[in-house]
Amino acid sequence: MQDIKSYTLTELTEYITSLGEPAFRAKQLYQWMHEKCVASLDDMSNIPKALKEKLRSDAANGSVDITPADATPQKVDITTITPVDIRESRDGTRKYLFELPDGELIESVLMRYKYGNTVCVSSQVGCRMGCRFCASTMDGLTRNLTPAEMLDQIYRITRDINERISHVVVMGMGEPMDNYDTLITFLRILTSPEGYNLSRRNITVSTCGLTERIREFADEDTGVTLAISLHAPDDELRRTMMPIANRYSIAEITEAAKYFFDRTGRRITYEYALVRDTNDSEECAHKLADLCRQTGAHVNLIPVNPVTGRGYAPTADDGVRAFKNKLEKQGINVTIRRELGQDIDGACGQLRKRYTGDLR
Ligand code: SF4
Repeated sequence: MQDIKSYTLTELTEYITSLGEPAFRAKQLYQWMHEKCVASLDDMSNIPKALKEKLRSDAANGSVDITPADATPQKVDITTITPVDIRESRDGTRKYLFELPDGELIESVLMRYKYGNTVCVSSQVGCRMGCRFCASTMDGLTRNLTPAEMLDQIYRITRDINERISHVVVMGMGEPMDNYDTLITFLRILTSPEGYNLSRRNITVSTCGLTERIREFADEDTGVTLAISLHAPDDELRRTMMPIANRYSIAEITEAAKYFFDRTGRRITYEYALVRDTNDSEECAHKLADLCRQTGAHVNLIPVNPVTGRGYAPTADDGVRAFKNKLEKQGINVTIRRELGQDIDGACGQLRKRYTGDLR
């Protein structure tokens, strides 16, 4: 099965010329899919009917991906995901629940900042990393997303609000480095000048710390920012919050973070979700500052989102500010991520769980 929305321009050109069509048709198709974000072959006005028919019949032969998965061959389209629920928060944040071609559900979030529109993209259906404060992992990993399914979260939101997305964070459902090849293709297509042409500097990929992948990612030189979900400044505490800490020690993560910085010249960010009476002590702040000095990392403090059934409570606002001050006094660059969309199941995976009836 081929999925033409997941093709880079080079791959699409190879495919289109293999059908006996001129190469410029590939560029036109690519622009319709990735620049103009249209959802259907029918909307591509400068593509000849004969080529559309050819693509549709190729799809009917099973060589082009179609949506939905159970569509009849005559009703073929390029992979498109469908919003089944959109919730808007008082602060303007929009949470989208998308249905994939096979009926699986994923979440994406649109956050409106002064500097532009940011979309938080999911990379997998579910997640197998098991972080204890996260609703996305409660049922494990169902499957990886395709590049088209990752891209289409941005495209459908662009069309929905009729505004361009300026920033993308790959921090939604799933561990992007656990779907590594897809992540790389997604980044290539998203930043391509013939496509959406999103600035690399405005993309952040977040990982819970798969160190081999971090090194590979550094070598790939994608030009994007890397965030590492640290959440605890020592292995013992981290193991209680994130099972992945049993596999990768903080010392290994530190080495991989240094490698990333040396290779790319880009400072990493440590994501740190503050959990009341767990990782918000003075001692934790000292240890975290120490880790930051070793790698030149910034810290992004996130008051942990309360997830039903997990028993983690967020650190109160004054505690968050106090923690920030302690880090800053030690010369660390710190930001506090604004809590957006709390009134619309803001925590990753919560809306999906509520929708499927697993969370009440
Ligand atoms: S926080 Fe991210 S890596 Fe951890 S379980 Fe949730 S989705 Fe997976």
